[in-house]
Amino acid sequence: MATFHQLTRNLLKQSNKIILSSPKVNNSTGYNFALTDTQKEIQEVARKFTREEIIPIAPHHDKTGEYPFDIVKKAWELGLINGHIPEDIGGMNNNVFTGCLVAEELGYGCTGITTALEATGLGQMPVIIAGNQEQKKKYLGRLLEEPLVAAYGVTEPGAGSDVAGIKTRAEKKGDEWILNGQKMWITNGGVANWYFVLARTNPDPKAPASKAFTGFIVEREWPGVTPGRKEQNMGQRASDTRGITFEDVRIPKENVLIGEGAGFKIAMGTFDKTRPPVASAATGLAQRCLDEASKYANERKTFGTPIANHQAVAFILADMGIGVELSRLSWMKAAWEVDNGIRNTYSASIAKCFAADIANKSATDAVQIFGGNGFNTEYPVEKLMRDAKIYQIYEGTAQIQRLIISRQIIDRAKQLS
Ligand SMILES: Cc1cc2nc3c(=O)[nH]c(=O)nc-3n(C[C@H](O)[C@H](O)[C@H](O)COP(=O)(O)OP(=O)(O)OC[C@H]3O[C@@H](n4cnc5c(N)ncnc54)[C@H](O)[C@@H]3O)c2cc1C
Repeated sequence: MATFHQLTRNLLKQSNKIILSSPKVNNSTGYNFALTDTQKEIQEVARKFTREEIIPIAPHHDKTGEYPFDIVKKAWELGLINGHIPEDIGGMNNNVFTGCLVAEELGYGCTGITTALEATGLGQMPVIIAGNQEQKKKYLGRLLEEPLVAAYGVTEPGAGSDVAGIKTRAEKKGDEWILNGQKMWITNGGVANWYFVLARTNPDPKAPASKAFTGFIVEREWPGVTPGRKEQNMGQRASDTRGITFEDVRIPKENVLIGEGAGFKIAMGTFDKTRPPVASAATGLAQRCLDEASKYANERKTFGTPIANHQAVAFILADMGIGVELSRLSWMKAAWEVDNGIRNTYSASIAKCFAADIANKSATDAVQIFGGNGFNTEYPVEKLMRDAKIYQIYEGTAQIQRLIISRQIIDRAKQLS
């Protein structure tokens, strides 16, 4: 008899077929906000998992910073991670939209745990979009066989937004590359089985970014790979964030993605597919803020009436509702575009930027509605506020998203004039 996990995996596979077999762009209905029945079922699996497995243990992981291994294992069994791995490798080949549905549900429960779960997808994406069949079989296949995770290693102590400023370098020696340098803020840094690593391979400082960097798959257990201590962050404390040092690490040439010089494009191209789920997880957090705040506003009384009856409070809730709905629409559009082969860098940046800002505004508003209780760890909203902040920083800061968006607007205007 099929286990629950097998049933879920089959369900996810089946759903993917339905999604993939539908016309690329269904013009017969125009815009369509309805989920397929199978998408609804996947959403329900993620929702149930969030309510039963994540929400009860989220405060413990927030307090202790303990990495949620059990949750990773259960999410792996249910197929709530590794969803984008192609079918010919044995994965579910989920599209970005379906991945976003899952991330929003998880984000509702705890975005620290969500980041721990989603970061493996970020690490895998360069291999999914740029890996050859052998690399995919070896490294993505490994993640399907056992509940292991990957990580994405680009940022360094001296360069985050300015990716072209990274100093980690790899030199070719015979059939190998020798990697030296230091990465910083790598999510899953201490727990990943392998990393995507971006390194400078052209020492000429004048070489263009599109040719100067190479993407590698680097195994955690290789000599010379040393993750640092777990960083103590403001929020999302369940997630494991570390620096990693590479000292004369020998990388076989088989672990180069595409070829020498292709790394920058791979690292940046990844974000078209990973920013929509970051936005959807932030939307989940904003929805949680709205639910907690509206529930509290109906219970808490001042001046003889629930505070929800004070128009000033009710209007805060209304603004939160507007934010959540538009945040959701923004990730939906970005995911829909990339799934339909439409370049979505612009919409992905809008979604990531907007959803991050809304998550932060929603969390601040929720704390406000809770009054003094909102400022206290006994109530759920101060964690939401701490957890929200990182959405304006990782996977491109709020300013970098606005840089991407504004450049596209300005370029378009130049073409028009
Ligand atoms: C918890 C956490 C998890 C992370 N996970 C990962 C991961 O898994 N993998 C990974 O590679 N990285 C990861 N990062 C790194 C993250 O992506 C970077 O922190 C982020 O890109 C910003 O880089 P920075 O910290 O160097 O800030 P800086 O680039 O130094 O920026 C500092 C400030 O200046 C602003 N700024 C910089 N340049 C400009 C500009 N041109 N115009 C306007 N404003 C500008 C920024 O917006 C920011 O406000 C993570 C970071 C954190 C904190």
